[in-house]
Amino acid sequence: MKIRIILGLLICINIWVEPITAWPGKSKKPKKVVFLIGDGMGLTQITGAMANYKGRNAFERFKIIGFSKTASSDNYVTDSGAGATVFSIGKKTFNGAIGVDSARGEKEGLFEKLKTKRWGTGVVATSSVTHATPASFYAHVSSRQSQDEIAEFLITDNCDIAIGGGKQFFTSRKDKRNLFKELHEKGFTTIADTVLKTVDAKKLIYTLADNGMKTMQDGRGEYLLNATLLAQQNLQKYYGNYFLMVEGSQIDWGGHDNNFEYMKAELLDFNQVINEVLDAAIKDGNTLVIVTADHECGGLSLLENKDNKLTFKPHFASEGHSGVMVPVFAYGPGAEQFAGIYDNTAIYYKLLKLLSLNEKL
Ligand code: MG
Ligand code: ZN
Repeated sequence: MKIRIILGLLICINIWVEPITAWPGKSKKPKKVVFLIGDGMGLTQITGAMANYKGRNAFERFKIIGFSKTASSDNYVTDSGAGATVFSIGKKTFNGAIGVDSARGEKEGLFEKLKTKRWGTGVVATSSVTHATPASFYAHVSSRQSQDEIAEFLITDNCDIAIGGGKQFFTSRKDKRNLFKELHEKGFTTIADTVLKTVDAKKLIYTLADNGMKTMQDGRGEYLLNATLLAQQNLQKYYGNYFLMVEGSQIDWGGHDNNFEYMKAELLDFNQVINEVLDAAIKDGNTLVIVTADHECGGLSLLENKDNKLTFKPHFASEGHSGVMVPVFAYGPGAEQFAGIYDNTAIYYKLLKLLSLNEKL
């Protein structure tokens, strides 16, 4: 009898649970994509940083969640070059690669494809704009170390807006070229400053540090949020349809330093950006928001704290990355495609389909 009641209840629950795959938006294809990468942001980073947070938890606002398997072509534990190149070209590649496949062949990236459809493209980061993650979206080189060379790819016109650090790779180069001058001649507004100001520009390279940006603990303030809003404003005004990559670059650096508080401050900053991007996407109705990571960093675990059992002890197993799956959060038209467990390559193919782009073989 008891078993029958339980079975009956289970059937009822099954019927009553509404599918979360439906998205009540106007169109099925997004007109804008904001692709947010928390570098080195695994589940334990999110759990640990958000544990006692009193504000809005952006991650808990998503209903559609997946997991991405992050191995690269030559290492179960990926680096950020291979980890972001896979989003841009859809191929697993070797660690250190930027926008090239495992045979070192230059593959047409998402930004190049989008430019053929006149979409606006942009990257915003708290690292240098030429650092592995943003670079993977617009450059094609076999080594992430070649940041002088990576900067030259911004002249090729497939990235309309880049905001972050990295001034030295434009103006203090080994070859003595002044890339700001060259970019200016190509129609870019180029700015090197220490604080972000509003600027109206169709094409914009804005650097705010010689290399990486300051940390949150050193007082970076609301730079990442303001840079994201500035990029969105200009991409909206001049292109209408756009793809913006926003990176919380230093969540990873906190992991490499095995510094939980550094990681946490960077993740909370990223959380605020996700909240604002989501608010705007909900209002807009045509924006697909994806939040994911290239890999976990530090092998972080949250262990029992014997002194205070209601909290935890952060423990890093490594100063490098780890090979654990990372979460993918999605909202907006097409978001339901991102539920499930898949290889990181699948993210590219899902985007390709949703953006009606063709794979050039
Ligand atoms: Mg990065
Ligand atoms: Zn890293």
